Amino acid sequence: MGESDGTQQAIQLIDEQKRFHADVLAHFKEWIGHRDVGLNYHVIAVFGSQSSGKSTLLNTLFNTSFDTMDAQFRRQQTTKGIWLAHTNHVNTVTESTAKGSDLFVLDVEGSDGAERGEDQDFERKAALFAIAVSEVLIVNMWEQQIGLYQGNNMALLKTVFEVNLSLFGKNRNGHKVLLLFVIRDHVGLTPMSSLSESLVSELEKIWSELSKPTECSEALLTDFFDLEFVGLAHKLLQPKEFENDVRALGDHFVFENRSSYYFKPAYHHRLPLEGWTIYSQNCWEQIENNKDLDLPTQQILVSRFKTEEIADEALKNFSANYHESIEPMIDDKDKLIRAMKKLRESCLDEYDRQASRYLETEYLEKRQGLQKNMVSKFTATVGEFLTNFSNSLLKATRAAIEDKNSNKSFAERSEASQLSTKEKFAGVVEEFSKEEFISSPGELTCDFENDLLKEVEELREKEITAIMTRAKKTITLTIKDTTISLLSHPELDVWDKVMEMFESTIKESIHKFMEDNGEYNFRVGLSSEQNDKLVRQIYHTGWHLLNVTVHDYLKEDTVVGILRDRFESKFRYDDSGSPRLWKSEEEIDQAFRVAKGHALEVLGVLSLAATSDNVEIIAKFDDCEDEEDEFYKDDVGIYHSKRFAHILNEIQKEKVLQQFRRQINVTVLDSKRSILKSTTS
Ligand code: GDP
Ligand code: MG
Repeated sequence: MGESDGTQQAIQLIDEQKRFHADVLAHFKEWIGHRDVGLNYHVIAVFGSQSSGKSTLLNTLFNTSFDTMDAQFRRQQTTKGIWLAHTNHVNTVTESTAKGSDLFVLDVEGSDGAERGEDQDFERKAALFAIAVSEVLIVNMWEQQIGLYQGNNMALLKTVFEVNLSLFGKNRNGHKVLLLFVIRDHVGLTPMSSLSESLVSELEKIWSELSKPTECSEALLTDFFDLEFVGLAHKLLQPKEFENDVRALGDHFVFENRSSYYFKPAYHHRLPLEGWTIYSQNCWEQIENNKDLDLPTQQILVSRFKTEEIADEALKNFSANYHESIEPMIDDKDKLIRAMKKLRESCLDEYDRQASRYLETEYLEKRQGLQKNMVSKFTATVGEFLTNFSNSLLKATRAAIEDKNSNKSFAERSEASQLSTKEKFAGVVEEFSKEEFISSPGELTCDFENDLLKEVEELREKEITAIMTRAKKTITLTIKDTTISLLSHPELDVWDKVMEMFESTIKESIHKFMEDNGEYNFRVGLSSEQNDKLVRQIYHTGWHLLNVTVHDYLKEDTVVGILRDRFESKFRYDDSGSPRLWKSEEEIDQAFRVAKGHALEVLGVLSLAATSDNVEIIAKFDDCEDEEDEFYKDDVGIYHSKRFAHILNEIQKEKVLQQFRRQINVTVLDSKRSILKSTTS
């Protein structure tokens, strides 16, 4: 092991027992340090019979330190397995100062030809592995092996091609491998051109004889492989030439801008370095277990695993920073939006930086998932912001609608402020949704508008109640007092007057709500039917009051009293209003008859409420307690009550008459007694 020139020690990737050493990643860290290599690395493997100078070539070319068989101890066996080394330093003809890409070199140590047998299994698997994971496969061979189809190399190649085709044939994705034939001990008698010609025809022959899966029966060797041929001088006999040849070969691995550059993009597996480890481990396990080696599926698995891991980590950092960078901004929309944008960007940046190297479909899918997770977190915060915002918005709206100093009607005020409130809210929601911070902006707006509507409805109810209370208060006072005052001194047309007063009182209480066309509109934003209903309610209150007032007041005793008053004022006072002085009984009897008739004129009027042209007054109620015959409901749902008009029935009238007669008889007797007194004294 030559470590004298500072090269790193090679490590065993797969050991003699065909076990994969998963701790390679730790070595990678050692080799790479903290550099982010990403996709900027290459993998080279070597293939060829044992003791053909493979390790010697790799060490000379790449400054690696694979074990080589010491010329002096030819019996000594190198340790079997697949070995991995790292280098940044390729020997070249042209001096290059720039640090090269990271190269990973796989060396296969099989067993010597002598001990072949069961070990062919290892060699075949190793070759398959080399083809599956590397970009460039060096096929190392002696010049004299060409054209001999000498066992090992070509037979093995045939097997590897076959398995390779059956595995990758269907899902190639344009991926290719460069087969670099390195001819050792090329003395130059046969030019490379003819050597490569015979190699190509040998390969074509192998290819044509392969049993190919049906889906790629027409596939060409060149659909899967690019071919290059290089001859190297004899290391021991022509050490200088050998050295130069190796350096010339080195140029192909270093100078990206030259057309002869070996690492073509089509060879790369497009996996970042850490993904490549998982990928190669999966490859080995599949090969070792003889499972189908499905390259794209492996890539998907790796990509899925890695992108998920990266997304989880990014989300974890996002959540960790959330509290600190977002919560304090909750009261300031612009700051909040800026902070959310910044946090999201940094989360996505973190994800993109690492995950964008993996398969695009997987990368994009996880990215979407990550965004969705962020949105759900943002939505909660925005929801919190909007709750505060909508509360203050509703408060301002309420104040604007309830503004008593405004000379606008409730309907106008509520209409205008609802409109501007909705606009304000929708505007803010739009600001958040434009940035895609919330998942369902429509729902938020809808919820808010429902709240607003409920608020306005509440205020409207309050406004209506206030209007109704005011109206009822005026009519209550007027109707009761005026009705009693009219009924206590009734004339024949008393009900005309009562009804006139009733109508005018109600109309007066709501006259400011009357429109030019005679319809009422309380200007609280109701339909004309709803406005009509309010008018009916006011009438209902009025009728109810009138009904109670009339029936409470016009009890038998009161009616007797009213009749007596009416009698007395006619009987005791003359037409000019002076008290009478009786001179004779005849005079008394005459006046008595007139006064009695005068009084009884209104008994009918007080017993039955009817207009002067004899139409019974029918009360109109919005509802009634019991469905008696006296009620009937009209087409607009109003109950008409006939009971209102019927104040005293025949029996009650009879009682009133009796009492009235008794009382006036007493009055007459007193009057007659007063004449007697004056004549006898
Ligand atoms: P590997 O088993 O293919 O890795 O072969 P090694 O690199 O271990 O070399 C096997 C033997 O071949 C060693 O004794 C080397 O000195 C010798 N050797 C290396 N390179 C050359 C070469 O270019 N020509 C010849 N003839 N022998 C070489
Ligand atoms: Mg070796």
